[in-house]
Amino acid sequence: MHNIAIVGAGFSGAVLARELAEAGYRPRVFDSRPHIAGNCHTERDPESNVMVHKYGPHIFHTDNERVWEYLNRFTHFMPYTNRVKTTTQGRVFSLPINLLTINQYFGKTFSPTEAKDFIESQADLTIRDPQTFEEQALRFVGRELYEAFFKGYTQKQWGCSPTQLPASILKRLPVRFNYDDNYFFHRYQGMPKDGYTALIGNILDHPKIELNLETVFRRDQANQFDHVFYSGPIDGYFEFQLGRLGYRTLDFKEIRGEGDYQGCAVMNYGDESVPYTRIAEHKYFSPWEEHDNTVCFAEYSRECEAGDIPYYPIRLMEEQDMLRRYVELAGGEQNVSFVGRLGTYRYLDMDVTVGEALAAADQFLSLSKSAQPVPAFFVAPV
Ligand SMILES: Cc1cc2nc3c(=O)[nH]c(=O)nc-3n(C[C@H](O)[C@H](O)[C@H](O)COP(=O)(O)OP(=O)(O)OC[C@H]3O[C@@H](n4cnc5c(N)ncnc54)[C@H](O)[C@@H]3O)c2cc1C
Repeated sequence: MHNIAIVGAGFSGAVLARELAEAGYRPRVFDSRPHIAGNCHTERDPESNVMVHKYGPHIFHTDNERVWEYLNRFTHFMPYTNRVKTTTQGRVFSLPINLLTINQYFGKTFSPTEAKDFIESQADLTIRDPQTFEEQALRFVGRELYEAFFKGYTQKQWGCSPTQLPASILKRLPVRFNYDDNYFFHRYQGMPKDGYTALIGNILDHPKIELNLETVFRRDQANQFDHVFYSGPIDGYFEFQLGRLGYRTLDFKEIRGEGDYQGCAVMNYGDESVPYTRIAEHKYFSPWEEHDNTVCFAEYSRECEAGDIPYYPIRLMEEQDMLRRYVELAGGEQNVSFVGRLGTYRYLDMDVTVGEALAAADQFLSLSKSAQPVPAFFVAPV
């Protein structure tokens, strides 16, 4: 089993290719885009020289020791802490909602315990078994914080009312009763010094890996290979024969200027009347660099249509049903494994993507050694 195709040169495809190459295979990698790194692609903006995250801001964070050590072979991570602000109801607040946010919003000087008691007094405890996002938020934080921080943003992000979204989206109490405004809880957090494209370029830089950019891989090519790892969209592989799985896509509006535009990396906009969800000022993702000029992108979220780039899988009931049917089709393919965020139609952070690709490579190598069949999925999408 030596003739291997890997579709996609994002984290999924690159890590699989590297692992197979190091095990002696000569994988051929295909990507339809003119660049590697998939949605994590970064490049220097020619006007400002700022390192720009072309498909939206990416901040690496993980608790997975194996993934952290693996990626540190290919890049130097610079220290970076994700701190987000939000503009809502004409004022600026710290996110995620923490003690500073609560004290500023309500004009108080609460201690952690006082703030906890106060938020509990705001929560709508008449909602016993929350079914929707809105009910869950009202039950956790009450109407005022829900309307300021969740309602408009969620409506814009998902294009539907929070009363139509499942409660499961808001799993935990989205509030901290201290002044910790680090967005992530993970032990390791950082930015690759030369950007994600250089990092993924280093992963792919192996004499046994053949890289083919601007090359679309189609289902009818699969029989030319012993095995195919497919990190493109599962519905696209089957030419959307059962319909299109729902995604949200993003439009980016460029904003340029001198000096600083907004004074932080990410500013969310909570009001529904502001059409974009957030503005990212990209030089703040490389705080160790200095730039005189600045470039920002405002993000507009909308339904993904044919020809758009799929960003966030929607995964409501309707999509789950269609996904189940695609998974059945995939099980009928003889020599294809579906991997990554698009192949399994899940939102995956980069560390999870890398972890799953490493585990898939381990499993593939062990199965092919003993001539056992390779599964269509290493992680069940449903
Ligand atoms: C807006 C946004 C922000 C994010 N921010 C973060 C963050 O801050 N931190 C974090 O950890 N994660 C973040 N993520 C998640 C991160 O983008 C993913 O974990 C990562 O991109 C998954 O890698 P992948 O290789 O599975 O998919 P992709 O990066 O999408 O790569 C798939 C590749 O396959 C190619 N392809 C598809 N079909 C074909 C075909 N038929 N033939 C040839 N090539 C094909 C595509 O061109 C693409 O390059 C974010 C995601 C989004 C949408």
